[in-house]
Amino acid sequence: DPQTIGDIVRHQGRTLANDIAFEFAGDEMSFAELDRRSNRAANALASLGVGKGDRIAYLGKNSHLYFEILSGAAKLGAVMTPVNWRLARPEVAYVLNDSQAKVLFVGPGFAELVSDIEGSLEHVARVFGAEGEEGPFPSYPEWRDTFSEDDPMVPCVVEDDAIQLYTSGTTGHPKGAILTHGSIFSSRMNEVDDSELKDWQRKIEGEVALLAMPCFHISGTGFGLGTMFNGTRAVVLPEYDPTQALDLIENYNISKMFMVPAAIQILLNHPRIGEVDFSNLKYISYGASPIPLELMKQAMDVLGCGFVQMYGMTETSGTIVALDPEDHVPEGSPKMRSVGKPLRDVEIKIIDDDGEEVPAGTIGEIATRSPKNMKGYWNRPEATEETIDADGWLRTGDAGYLDEDGYLYIQDRVKDMIISGGENVYPAEVENALYAHPKVADVAVIGIPSDKWGEEVKACIVIKEGEELSEAEVIAHAREHIAGYKCPKSVDFIDALPRNPSGKILRKDLRAPYWEGKE
Ligand code: ATP
Ligand code: MG
Repeated sequence: DPQTIGDIVRHQGRTLANDIAFEFAGDEMSFAELDRRSNRAANALASLGVGKGDRIAYLGKNSHLYFEILSGAAKLGAVMTPVNWRLARPEVAYVLNDSQAKVLFVGPGFAELVSDIEGSLEHVARVFGAEGEEGPFPSYPEWRDTFSEDDPMVPCVVEDDAIQLYTSGTTGHPKGAILTHGSIFSSRMNEVDDSELKDWQRKIEGEVALLAMPCFHISGTGFGLGTMFNGTRAVVLPEYDPTQALDLIENYNISKMFMVPAAIQILLNHPRIGEVDFSNLKYISYGASPIPLELMKQAMDVLGCGFVQMYGMTETSGTIVALDPEDHVPEGSPKMRSVGKPLRDVEIKIIDDDGEEVPAGTIGEIATRSPKNMKGYWNRPEATEETIDADGWLRTGDAGYLDEDGYLYIQDRVKDMIISGGENVYPAEVENALYAHPKVADVAVIGIPSDKWGEEVKACIVIKEGEELSEAEVIAHAREHIAGYKCPKSVDFIDALPRNPSGKILRKDLRAPYWEGKE
């Protein structure tokens, strides 16, 4: 059985041959072609001295070439690091230096950025334009085609590093999580022959998947590797665009896609949403941040497909817990508030401050153990030791609880918990209640310093266009839905919430002005 990315590409190239692996801007790449081109990429990289354990980087919007280069690197035992193209120049330099990438591929539009920071890059020896010549940087495809398509046949094992993915940086500096071939694929491997495989995990005959989330995030890279593994045709968008997504869903028989809640919200607000035929769409998987119940109900109502919630993190190679379509019952199913049950091979436990497991129903920090866990943080032995214990349990930094049936409920990040008058308040719960107000377009809840309570709850609200809303109305609405100590004491009305590309609210940015000099 194929065990590594290279083996999977070889296997699919042989067995699926001319089936399309990736489709990008009208360019179709078959599995056989992916196999051949990744051999050339591997030979090209090897000519620069790239070998086992070396890092290479990709800075650009999504492209099928990202997966081709990644596969080529994997065939050498080298490691792909996708870089978040939304970062500012110093942040990009930070990630490139931290990863020690030797070769950098830049997508269209990013040559200038790279030229500006080139002087501060400590390890990058060569830069190529990923899709063709970019500014001063030569064309990767032309360069690649000058090399042989013979397989370099470098022995690789599941324990080898495969991808170095940086965390989203929601709570601090992004950290490089080392994902091995085994962490990416082993739990899928074990599922292959399993009759218990869920419907949404199976390949549907003729299915077409839409990859619209960024590949610098585990949701994009994980989704693309998943379609490679399943032998599914994936249409790749450079970045999420709701108009294009609707067009593809309607005219291109998209059957599966992954979206973060913020992307679902944008889709539902599209002026054409009411006219689109969604009958081909089988499943939408979603996750990466909490989804307000109101939004979920609306999505189910409008899109009418099966929904699968996914909970996971960069450090766990993506999804470790999922809520099946059957548990999505907007009226009446209490499970809909959960993120579902652990996937096969995944253990979840809830621990207290001392690391001791707590019983069902008790809130604590979520810890997990599975083959999907990362090897560690790149060059950060202390952070790795704080995160993964000697028995292999990884602390997620998220607070939550398990119910009697083994369903996991996320409260919020441990770091975002507000302690007000000795009571714990989880922002996500308050946000969920406020989001249900018909005049609220978007909301974030933070703790601000308070002489009386230690911290007090503040809501930052974006009002729906053309509506008016007062602080008193917001507080009164909250009182009807949640306990008094969880209700906001004050409200800021703002134009837009700061979010990162995976749609996560940057509460640290909202908090900053209130905590300056106080922490
Ligand atoms: P950093 O670790 O750098 O602060 P980050 O934690 O946002 O950034 P990711 O690895 O992209 O980086 O995100 C993982 C986190 O996303 C989880 O720890 C959890 O807080 C949140 N998350 C993921 N899926 C869900 C979900 N279905 N519901 C709620 N939160 C989720
Ligand atoms: Mg994190």
